[in-house]
Amino acid sequence: MPVARILFTLPLPEPFDYTVPDGMDVVPGSYVAAPVGPYDRLGMVVEVLPDRVGSNRKLKPVSAVYDVPPMSEAMREFLSWTAKYTVSHPGTVLGMALRAREALLPSPVEVRYRLTGFEISGRVTDARARVLEQARILGLATASELAAAAGVSSSVVKGLVVTGALEEIEEPTDLPFAEPDPERPGEVLTGEQAEAAEALRAGLREGGFSSFLLDGVTGSGKTEVYFEAIAEVLRADPEAQILVLLPEIALTQAILSRFERRFGAAPAPWHSGLNPKERRRTMREVLHGRARIVIGARSALFLPYRKLKLIIVDEEHDPSFKQEDGVTYHARDLAVMRAKLEDGAVVLASATPALETVVNAEAGRYARLRLAARPGTAQLPEIELVDLRKAPPGKGKWLSPVLEHAMTERLAAGEQSLLFLNRRGYAPLVICKACGERLKSPGTENWLTEHRYSGRLVCHLTGYSIPKPAVCPKCGAADSLIGVGPGVERVAEEVRVLLPDARIEIFSSDTAQGADATRSIVERMAAGEIDVLIGTQIVAKGHNFPNLTLVGVVDADSGLKGGDLRAGERTYQLLSQVAGRAGRAERPGRAYVQTYAPDNPAMQALAANDRDGYLAIEREVRAELGLPPFGRLAALILSAPSAELVDSFALLLAEQAPNAEGIELFGPAPAPIAVLRGRHRRRFLVKSPRNVDLSAYMAAWSARLKVPSQVRLSVDIDPYSFL
Ligand code: ADP
Repeated sequence: MPVARILFTLPLPEPFDYTVPDGMDVVPGSYVAAPVGPYDRLGMVVEVLPDRVGSNRKLKPVSAVYDVPPMSEAMREFLSWTAKYTVSHPGTVLGMALRAREALLPSPVEVRYRLTGFEISGRVTDARARVLEQARILGLATASELAAAAGVSSSVVKGLVVTGALEEIEEPTDLPFAEPDPERPGEVLTGEQAEAAEALRAGLREGGFSSFLLDGVTGSGKTEVYFEAIAEVLRADPEAQILVLLPEIALTQAILSRFERRFGAAPAPWHSGLNPKERRRTMREVLHGRARIVIGARSALFLPYRKLKLIIVDEEHDPSFKQEDGVTYHARDLAVMRAKLEDGAVVLASATPALETVVNAEAGRYARLRLAARPGTAQLPEIELVDLRKAPPGKGKWLSPVLEHAMTERLAAGEQSLLFLNRRGYAPLVICKACGERLKSPGTENWLTEHRYSGRLVCHLTGYSIPKPAVCPKCGAADSLIGVGPGVERVAEEVRVLLPDARIEIFSSDTAQGADATRSIVERMAAGEIDVLIGTQIVAKGHNFPNLTLVGVVDADSGLKGGDLRAGERTYQLLSQVAGRAGRAERPGRAYVQTYAPDNPAMQALAANDRDGYLAIEREVRAELGLPPFGRLAALILSAPSAELVDSFALLLAEQAPNAEGIELFGPAPAPIAVLRGRHRRRFLVKSPRNVDLSAYMAAWSARLKVPSQVRLSVDIDPYSFL
């Protein structure tokens, strides 16, 4: 009897064997249910053996096979490669590919109603007439939709079936996505855009793996160019699928309508904001190969595509492509591997590519396509540094006179301003002026942020929040708690005093909760209904505000603090992205960057619009220190409920570290976030030359000791966060 080796979506290191009952059709990649302990579990067949080998242990049979196409070989290779690379259980990685398991079942059906075209047999009451009228307007609709539209109860709708005027139709609730049409015209491309598009098309026509860096200033038409590549793939192969990865897709809905305009159909979405029905719909359509274009957040890379021929990673430098919890991975790096395994193409697009990507392009691993200009008359904004040592804000204020003046002028001219400050709430720290107590979140060392809007103190790390206390919790003094430092709410307060007639709004994850609220702010800003928008990094994302001519960066230095090796690079990327919001249409834009460190290379390069100069400096420093991409890093993070426990295990682990050529080990050291949700955290950092298989090293090291049940150990290959 044939035997199927099944990998389950459970944190287990290897597959288990089951017999395949007569008549059951099982191949590698089949999705199956099989018993693990008392329950049937979801799994995937990794291998089918003609007969059992080895032990005579009685094997259980496979319970059922799902009636869907099996997982492709390239996808299976991708999952096992990812598990090895990230030092994770293969079953855990498989679970990431099968997030919406109802997608393996056919769509549920629901009853809808429509006109039959026959006369009604029976009395035509007012209520009935209204339903028939709505049925004419709506076409096919559910009883509750018709009832709501006609202002009657559902029983009136159902009653009309007996009269012969309406009929019931059973329809799947999850409908397929409309087929995109590559032949619809896009914009007429400029010379350099056409050249880049042609290079992409040529690579795609040639077939096999190809990789590109689409390197173009903000607003230069990168999206228009990759639309051409998408059209080419749609045309060339009716089965090929395309994935577009975008940071914070849940917040940037405008891009969906742009796809719809270009291809006549909305793409299949995949992000954390979807409800369960939307998730299973997208996943089912992907699994059957019917969804041609998927646009999603990093986890969309793990959907079980049938034939993924093109992956676009837009804003490839964006930190949100790094997954920090559970299986830690960088979606950009994995996208390149995925394309390789699929014999497909990958396009990394950015105005400020990561140093890693630039170095790869220069080494010839990616073909580099450049877009140097904005189409038409749109100009890049002038960027001016405001030295806060020379032009400090007034007492208790955060905006320097230079910025105040510029904002006043813009308002008078009927133009918009945008202020950027990457801090939510009113004040990032609350202290007691009587006893000096700094209010911290319980179970962590993190300060509480004051939110005036909601009247609460909030921990941005854990989500803990309390109403602002009337007295100091330490010394009991009344009215002694004051907020220190600025958040967006406080800057808004300052602007209200400066420009009392301006329409001012705050744009942060507190004021824009969910896609609808976000869209509303973006639309009102684009329509000119807001004069001054004050936002966190949410404002930096691809929005197009034609009447925005002034960008003010309130505190350019905040991202430079801390020991992050990419701090300078990220500051440069974020600030040039924010500044790039200005001057998108015909009006020239200007950005003022407030800093106490105008001599910092990142600030200097920003003002000179010298991205390549800045990258050259970064590159030299990293090469000198053997840091990525010139060397490799991995982190090992331990946590436990007590400091003693985590410290003693960390020491044991340090003793067990394998000796290997070129490997340098740092730690254990308390993590910068030393206590989180009551758990004490310690970190090791491992550094190696580029050619060392750090994943294998970390796997070997962490397998040397049994981890005590109260200790958690996690491995982060290529860490981006050092907290
Ligand atoms: P990027 O992705 O590089 O930021 P986009 O593709 O979003 O740039 O283009 C910026 C704006 O310019 C968009 O509104 C886009 O429709 C417009 N645009 C780009 N290329 C052209 C073109 N060739 N003709 C007309 N408008 C264009």
